Amino acid sequence: MLLGHGEVPLRSAYAVAAPEGPSSARPKGPGVLYLTNHRLVFEAPVGRRASGETDTQFEVALHDLTNVSVRRPRVGAPRLVLETSQGRPSFDVLDPDAWTASIAQARRALPPPPGAGETSVHVIERQVVKVRCRYCSALGNELDGRCPSCGAPL
Ligand SMILES: [Zn+2]
Repeated sequence: MLLGHGEVPLRSAYAVAAPEGPSSARPKGPGVLYLTNHRLVFEAPVGRRASGETDTQFEVALHDLTNVSVRRPRVGAPRLVLETSQGRPSFDVLDPDAWTASIAQARRALPPPPGAGETSVHVIERQVVKVRCRYCSALGNELDGRCPSCGAPL
């Protein structure tokens, strides 16, 4: 999986995906579920198993997740259910409760959306131009106005 700028992998595990609802045919089948500090990604092998190639079947940014829950059917393993604008995929993954906790933690760590009252800090770096003194050849800062060595105007 390719990580974006500043993206850190937090968790990954073998998972079996099942689409929920009538519209989505994907994600489906076995693959690997990844949680990073930015998104959830499900990748599944493509083509021949031995090729090692994987395909991103499902991807959602953490701030686009509307809900995460664990569904416990009467029969079978509990499933991690993601509610997103792209549907409600569920994943059969080891310890789905630990996943919901990790996802909740990652969402809390997300930076606030722009304009949420945070004052941003701008660092303005002033460019200092060095000039050589006409009289003694010493280097001085243009902004100082005077040669640091002989005091002549720069
Ligand atoms: Zn000088």
